[in-house]
Amino acid sequence: MRYLILSDIHANWEALTAVWMAAERDGFDQCLCLGDVVGYGANPNECAQWVRERARLVIRGNHEKACTGMADLEDYNPAAETAALWTRNQLTAENAQWVASLPQGPAPLDGFQLAHGSPADEDEYLTTPYQAEELIGFLAEPVTFIGHTHVQGGFRLFRNRAAVIEPVPAKRQTLEYELHPGSMYLINPGAVGQPRDGDSRAAWALFEPGCQRVTYRRVTYDVESAQRKIRAAGLPDVLAWRLSLGK
Ligand code: ZN
Repeated sequence: MRYLILSDIHANWEALTAVWMAAERDGFDQCLCLGDVVGYGANPNECAQWVRERARLVIRGNHEKACTGMADLEDYNPAAETAALWTRNQLTAENAQWVASLPQGPAPLDGFQLAHGSPADEDEYLTTPYQAEELIGFLAEPVTFIGHTHVQGGFRLFRNRAAVIEPVPAKRQTLEYELHPGSMYLINPGAVGQPRDGDSRAAWALFEPGCQRVTYRRVTYDVESAQRKIRAAGLPDVLAWRLSLGK
């Protein structure tokens, strides 16, 4: 079984279609999604529809809560709040219902689990090895996929210590990562639609439990078109320019 793991698509249709084409070439059996399908970008309906039709399992992210009235928008920065309200107005009734119905992580699946922020708190940003070490008691499975930070890589936990897993280097498109028995892993595929690890390319991962391998992937996409649409929609300009920086 080969899983395509997507996270943080953020209504970026150009990034999603580029990832989709590359993933079709790579080959996969099932698609899984770690949330934040919508929010920030200009194509929430297209992205929601795509994920609805193709993903075997999708858990909710904080942006699914924000655009369906399930989160207090005072906790969001002004650009995120504006985008959440804009998204709420754009979603068709059918897509809004689907977004509101997405389950909260962690969600177990075939010996691994999916979470948006962390298995202990769906809204937590897991950014440091110290935070990863604190989670050891919460990890019900040896492999947990996480998103939310928009930083590709994650953490390897071995003998109660966490080590950072680095993203795909700038000059490469693929990084194969072997999983070792006796270690636990928090694997972040990175963000499809709004990377924040200094690399503007769309990010995702493939997971093959049978051979205990994660393949981290990156692909360039039409950033300019995504930016043009964000500006044409009247969304905050920061949401457009940050795409070309990967920040
Ligand atoms: Zn996100």
